[in-house]
Amino acid sequence: MASPRPAARPRKAKATIIALANQKGGVAKTTSVASLGAAFAERGLRVLLVDLDPQACLTFSLGVDPDAVDASVHDVLVGGTDLADVVVRCEEGVDLVPSTIDLAGAEAVLLSRPAREYVLQGALAPVRKDYDVILLDCSPSLGVLTLNALTAAQGLVIPMPCEMLSHRGVGQLLDTVRDVRRILNKKLTVLGILPTLYDGRSLHAREVLEDVGSRYDLPVLGPPIPKTVRFAEAPAVGRSILSTARSSKGAKAYREVSLALVPA
Ligand code: ADP
Ligand code: MG
Repeated sequence: MASPRPAARPRKAKATIIALANQKGGVAKTTSVASLGAAFAERGLRVLLVDLDPQACLTFSLGVDPDAVDASVHDVLVGGTDLADVVVRCEEGVDLVPSTIDLAGAEAVLLSRPAREYVLQGALAPVRKDYDVILLDCSPSLGVLTLNALTAAQGLVIPMPCEMLSHRGVGQLLDTVRDVRRILNKKLTVLGILPTLYDGRSLHAREVLEDVGSRYDLPVLGPPIPKTVRFAEAPAVGRSILSTARSSKGAKAYREVSLALVPA
């Protein structure tokens, strides 16, 4: 399944680890992980994507059948399998730690373990030197799996559609980030809100975009990701919009955001 990677560029000693989290579902976490991953890979960066959602949408959208994988992130987090042993190489030029529905049971198992929030950080440590960027696709919850992501990450991106009700929950997520910083991971930085599903024709969407940065005192990453049907089409063929609609506005927006997150 491997596709050729662009020629060598200066390598970082250790990957930058970025979590995409928002406990609301349907805010484009998974779409953003797949698209940013492809954007980084296009630039010649070595990319690892980790699917932390039992629904395995990222896994599926990269053309990997969750029912057909030998081992998954569940085996890593619960069974102690080496993370490198479950990595699947995808056509987008990214590596993936796939998820399966087994992961739904992981929260309960981890709850009874000491240092349960540090399991992912420990599992990623040996492979950090092999990648430039590692993106963590969180499930729509603030449970143990998301705490693992926030503990392993240096940066957090909060995807948020430009609609009023999308605000709900961002405050709670930021409270969790404060706790994580205090107790689990001092280095966690909120890189910003990523406005998604943006309809520039809507006055309401423009107002939400204007307001969101000052409301939470956070950077707003940009440009906003336009709402377009292209995004629904890409996962069906196991690719991201960066290869199915290379020069679309959506693909361009994700390329720009990738540069804002990890400058060239
Ligand atoms: P989450 O991971 O936060 O639950 P997803 O990435 O799965 O969200 O996106 C939810 C739905 O929205 C999916 O059907 C996806 O195809 C669609 N979607 C995501 N981004 C866009 C966009 N920019 N324009 C139109 N549809 C989008
Ligand atoms: Mg998702």
